[in-house]
Amino acid sequence: MPETATAVRQVRRPEGAPRPEDFELVEVEIPALEAGQVLVRNLFLSVDPYHRELMDSEGWRKGFGLEGGSLGRVVASREPLLPRGTIVHHRHGWSSHAVLTAGEVREIERAAGVPLSTYLGLLGGTGLTAYVGLQRIARLLPGEDVFISGAAGAVGSAAGQIARILGARRIVGSAGSPAKIKHLTDRLGFDAAFDYHDGIAGQLTRALPRGIDVYFDNVGGDHLEAAIGALRRFGRIAWCGAVAQYNNPEEPPPAPRNLYDVVGKSLRMEGFQVGNHLDAREELGALLIPRIQAGDVQVDETVTEGIEHTVDAFLGMLRGENIGKAVVQLADGVGD
Ligand code: NAP
Repeated sequence: MPETATAVRQVRRPEGAPRPEDFELVEVEIPALEAGQVLVRNLFLSVDPYHRELMDSEGWRKGFGLEGGSLGRVVASREPLLPRGTIVHHRHGWSSHAVLTAGEVREIERAAGVPLSTYLGLLGGTGLTAYVGLQRIARLLPGEDVFISGAAGAVGSAAGQIARILGARRIVGSAGSPAKIKHLTDRLGFDAAFDYHDGIAGQLTRALPRGIDVYFDNVGGDHLEAAIGALRRFGRIAWCGAVAQYNNPEEPPPAPRNLYDVVGKSLRMEGFQVGNHLDAREELGALLIPRIQAGDVQVDETVTEGIEHTVDAFLGMLRGENIGKAVVQLADGVGD
């Protein structure tokens, strides 16, 4: 059993965009296991936009490092339910190791041919968020037109592919670079995509001149205003996130100036938290696993190697350097 773990901690609150100096890398002593505990060696860590929000809250801590979705292997066990070698998901991330009880982990039963890290992405909270937003919140129907912001990111790229499976007609995405636009149309099957830096409302109208039925919002602000403008009567907005405002929580973008059109067009706008929909996990697996195995659904990831680069991966993701799910890989030989 190793004696120490390497962990990332936050040392100060950021003003605006976070910086590397807001974090520190520490060596933490691993205590002897008590009955019912296991030692997990983390294999993959998730870095997410909500971690930026946590940086403004009190006491963002859990375990040796910081709270965050993680996949790891049990390397020492005093819990008969979790023998050595068991692969688990847990939330004591941003650390090389974690000491956990059975109640804090979920065993991962890997499907053949599915990379392990997929259980943090398409088959984890990311894919579940996309699925729940489209299926339960927007109640997307076959033949409807969909607009997705943040489309090349983790949730957005999952949402585009799931919308196709659910029978959407035209799927349009926005993202932050020409490379991402090309990726959306060439690899992920979006019918059209545009770079939001060149304006939103005009490009959205050109891509979907007859309007949209469903808007999956990852960004908020200008995107939300443009989408309200483009939505047809009885359209729905699944409000998933507002990444455009996380760096400036004191000065969020003004509310959409056309918010009252929600009434005039009989729109429905509903926010949601994936944590309230964990019961949809099985449905998601049934929908995606056969398609991932057949190569019909793309597993998009940006992988950063090494616990010491966790903060780089996090800051890069906030700057838009990722395509698909941003993960940190900690150990060799785990893709087997
Ligand atoms: P992600 O999209 O993989 O990464 C964040 C992306 O945000 C970046 O790649 C960047 O892409 C984009 N971005 C950054 N600043 C932006 C800005 N000012 N305007 C527009 N885009 C900007 O992250 P994710 O994990 O998939 O999360 C996407 C959204 O879903 C976030 O809002 C997150 O909070 C939300 N979420 C919600 C739930 C829930 O339960 N409701 C669960 C998971 C995630 P570009 O290059 O395109 O700018």
